[in-house]
Amino acid sequence: MSKKVLVTGASRGIGFAVAEAFARNGYTVFATYHNTKNTLTKLSDRLDAEGYTLIPVSCDVSSEESVNAMFSEIGEVDILINNAGIAQFKLLSDITCEDWDSILNVNLKSVFLCSKAASFGMIRNRFGRIINISSVWGVVGASCESHYSASKAGIIGLTRALAKELGPSGITVNCIAPGVIRTEMNAHLSDEDIRVLCEETPLGRIGEPEEIAQAALFFATADFVTGETLSVGGGFGM
Ligand code: NAP
Repeated sequence: MSKKVLVTGASRGIGFAVAEAFARNGYTVFATYHNTKNTLTKLSDRLDAEGYTLIPVSCDVSSEESVNAMFSEIGEVDILINNAGIAQFKLLSDITCEDWDSILNVNLKSVFLCSKAASFGMIRNRFGRIINISSVWGVVGASCESHYSASKAGIIGLTRALAKELGPSGITVNCIAPGVIRTEMNAHLSDEDIRVLCEETPLGRIGEPEEIAQAALFFATADFVTGETLSVGGGFGM
């Protein structure tokens, strides 16, 4: 039987590419959306016609009630990919407590909620892979994105702690820290912004969502790697 994978925030961008890549590699994929369902419905139909399985599921990953309802619906999973996230560009002086809570809840509390819910089945089965999507900003910090950077650094700390706690149960926990990737999250960047970012990147370009999917597939099959954070950003932020 094929392994079951849950990818959060899969309606577009990195999560969409990760969900499609796992489905095409023979996994049964549960792909979550929050507001945008139609992209996943279309992907699901396309993959179904080719003999692959991707099932869209609704979830607000920042809500304990919503996460638990989703797990009741889908049951145990072998692999969890905590990808859903939001960003905001603000000076520290302009960040409100609501902004802080919103970023921390969607980006970090979600990883706690989904990992906890997935862990019960993984511990029972003595097998699991948890793959968290952090950011280069969680490693080096970004000016005007202090709440986002803190949430992404928190994911790295949580990854290391859970790797230690869950390792004896046969569960690996790893993290991917993407550099600048071509998704809607970066749609606000001008051509000039992108040119400067490319100049600052040793490999001379921004990344594609499929390149994060490659790293996620690696962690899904790497049996003796845990607690690691892999930068996938063409050397950006080194
Ligand atoms: P994106 O294109 O903006 O997509 C974000 C995804 O998260 C969407 O599927 C969205 O779902 C989902 N989402 C947002 N709030 C949610 C909530 N409360 N509950 C459930 N799902 C929610 O972003 P992306 O660029 O693909 O980013 C994916 C991850 O990579 C994020 O964690 C981001 O921080 C990280 N990352 C991105 C970059 C980059 O350069 N793009 C770099 C480093 C790290 P709906 O559309 O259905 O609302």
